[in-house]
Amino acid sequence: MSSSETSRTPRHLVVVGGGVIGLTCALRAADEGWQVTVVDAGEHLRAAWVAGGMLGSLGEGHPGEDALLELSERSVARWPDLIVRLGDPDVVAAHDSLFVAATAADAGYLAQLADFVWSRRPRSTDRLTPVDATVIREREPAIGSRLRGGYLARGEGAVDNRRLLAALRAALIAAGGRIESGRIADLAELDGHRPDQILLAAGAGIADLWPDAPVHLDKGEVLRLRADRWTVPPPLHVIRARVDGRTVYLVPRSDGIVVGATQYEGDAHEWRSGAAGARAAGVADLLADAIEVYPGLREYTLAEVGVGFRPCSPDGLPIIGRLDERVLLACGHGRNGIMLAPYTADAFAALLAEPGDEKPCTANIFEQTITTGGIG
Ligand SMILES: Cc1cc2nc3c(=O)[nH]c(=O)nc-3n(C[C@H](O)[C@H](O)[C@H](O)COP(=O)(O)OP(=O)(O)OC[C@H]3O[C@@H](n4cnc5c(N)ncnc54)[C@H](O)[C@@H]3O)c2cc1C
Repeated sequence: MSSSETSRTPRHLVVVGGGVIGLTCALRAADEGWQVTVVDAGEHLRAAWVAGGMLGSLGEGHPGEDALLELSERSVARWPDLIVRLGDPDVVAAHDSLFVAATAADAGYLAQLADFVWSRRPRSTDRLTPVDATVIREREPAIGSRLRGGYLARGEGAVDNRRLLAALRAALIAAGGRIESGRIADLAELDGHRPDQILLAAGAGIADLWPDAPVHLDKGEVLRLRADRWTVPPPLHVIRARVDGRTVYLVPRSDGIVVGATQYEGDAHEWRSGAAGARAAGVADLLADAIEVYPGLREYTLAEVGVGFRPCSPDGLPIIGRLDERVLLACGHGRNGIMLAPYTADAFAALLAEPGDEKPCTANIFEQTITTGGIG
């Protein structure tokens, strides 16, 4: 092959993992002119398949998570462009979120979170606004009688996670990418693809490919309830509630409501089996709290009990970096991987455009981008 032919040949990126992070990064690389192959082990191992799909930034603010607050704002701001790129506006399931509380103590908990956000973003009161019970009932007439005021987070809604995954796959294939089924145990298995670069985006499976991955798993249960013509329609907002000290959210879908989510320590063996079971107590609490928030849910059909594993880093920030000159990482997105997908894709694209670092480097690039505004 002549050197001019070589220079015209697109470089080949292989992405291990076809969840929300792998697909969003793959699409971004295809748009940058890379030949892209995604190898994926299936939806039974995919957190993004069960997730609620919420896109919270200010509404996700928790004391001590300043860096995550900043990344979240940047990523939520990128979502409209990603929706346009996908060409499917129905991926959006809700535009805003309502935060509501059942008791005075629950209201106090929400107030603490809001105070943290306003202390860090003093000019954000138009995006995170206190609302009383009357406003909440005007916006969501079917909300339960025990629920009192809270907050409205404007521009922080949700996507339909499954529709999103389908749209990402379709867009990638239309852009010339390939998606193969397979569970990679060793990167040598990819040699036949002759990859110039490899991205590890295997979610909870990252430790099987990068044994030093500082990622632990948080297991979570999610319920899917289906509406019919006789039931109260799904809410228009994401409803995020605090009920007797527990947190529950209701995310609308075109055909019903997703209720989530529990959170407790996950076991990698259980994840690997691909057949993790739901705890009865988790399902019972979610159902009871969700019915308290939205009593009409009682008449819905319980269509699915889903279980997923959030791949979490120690500091709650995603790990995006380079392992060596050929292998890149995008993992550890914890409870926010869907929301953080567009930002991750931009950060990944910036790394892909750089020549490979000879030194192994697993640095989290966010510290650098936050202080310098690098990727912005
Ligand atoms: C209950 C629950 C609710 C959630 N709700 C939200 C929410 O509302 N909003 C939000 O932003 N985030 C939410 N999340 C978090 C979000 O789902 C994750 O952060 C996100 O899915 C991580 O994306 P990922 O692509 O890294 O991993 P995944 O989505 O898990 O995808 C990883 C993919 O890699 C594949 N894979 C794994 N190992 C291998 C291998 N060895 N070879 C080939 N393929 C492999 C898997 O089959 C899978 O398809 C939730 C998570 C859970 C569990």
